[in-house]
Amino acid sequence: MALRKEYGRLVGLTEKREEPGRRRERRTYGHVRSRAARRAVLERSRGRCEFCERDAPGVTDRGHPILEVDHVREIAKDGRDHPEQMIALCPNCHAVKTRGAGRRAMVEGLLEKVGGLHREALDEPDESAPGERTEASED
Ligand SMILES: [Zn+2]
Repeated sequence: MALRKEYGRLVGLTEKREEPGRRRERRTYGHVRSRAARRAVLERSRGRCEFCERDAPGVTDRGHPILEVDHVREIAKDGRDHPEQMIALCPNCHAVKTRGAGRRAMVEGLLEKVGGLHREALDEPDESAPGERTEASED
C-alpha cells in the first residue's frame, strides 16, 4: 500500500499553505482549514480511530469510514492545521475529547501520540516502489 507516498503528498500540500505570504493573506479572512490535512489524517488512520484503535463503527453511503478529524489543540489556541497535530477519532472518542471532563488533560498525550503516528506514516516503506530496500529479502 502506498500510504507513505499519498500521506507525504498531502502533508506537502498542507505545508505549502503555511508559507508566510499565504498565511498572512489567509488570516485576513479567518482560518480556512486545509482539506489536504484532513485527507492526510484519514489516509493515515486506515479506517481506525487513532485514539481507541478500533475500526470505525461503520461507513458512509460512499464507503468512507465514519471518523471525525479533530485538531488536538484548537486553532484558536495556537494549534496547527497540520496532520502532525490532528487526529482521526471515532464518534465516541471525539465526544470524550470534545466534552469529556478530562479533555484538557488529554491534549499533551494526544499531541505526542499523533506526532508519532505522523512520523511513522512518513517513514513507512513504500511497498509499491520499484527497487526498494533489500534488507528484508527472504533468500
Ligand atoms: Zn475511538
